[in-house]
Amino acid sequence: MSVAYDPNNIFAKILRGEIPCEKLYEDEDTLAFMDVMPQAEGHLLVIPKLGARNILDVPPEVLSSLILRVQKLARAAKAGMGAEGVTIIQFNEPAAGQTVYHIHFHVIPRWEGIALRPHSGKMADSATLKAHADKIRAALAADA
Ligand code: 5GP
Repeated sequence: MSVAYDPNNIFAKILRGEIPCEKLYEDEDTLAFMDVMPQAEGHLLVIPKLGARNILDVPPEVLSSLILRVQKLARAAKAGMGAEGVTIIQFNEPAAGQTVYHIHFHVIPRWEGIALRPHSGKMADSATLKAHADKIRAALAADA
């Protein structure tokens, strides 16, 4: 039995424009924005506009279109950040490490020998997030 979606979660508030985000990409079904507590430089999140708690309840057609956007953002993050690789992470339920209950994929640029910082660790300053977002937005624009 899956747990009901809570429309007051922080990503639902971002989608409704009630709290700000450093936006990277938006289309009819999807929003991508910078993670405020990045585990590496350029760490971003991709979410569907439809409210679903996690992979256990998201409708298959929403998940299908979401993963294509994850690929698009992964390519842009790697190119824009000059990364050597990209880690994709997706948590489901508290026991698995989920802390925000609106399905999302983490897209994290990676470099050889640089370990990930802790999950939901330290807040980045907004100027740093914007500088990294500008690089990823430029890569997205070049890809368009
Ligand atoms: P989860 O554990 O649910 O997979 O991860 C939630 C992610 O959302 C964490 O990486 C955390 O840093 C990020 N996060 C939490 N609150 C906010 C917020 O208000 N804005 C943004 N942009 N990211 C957030």
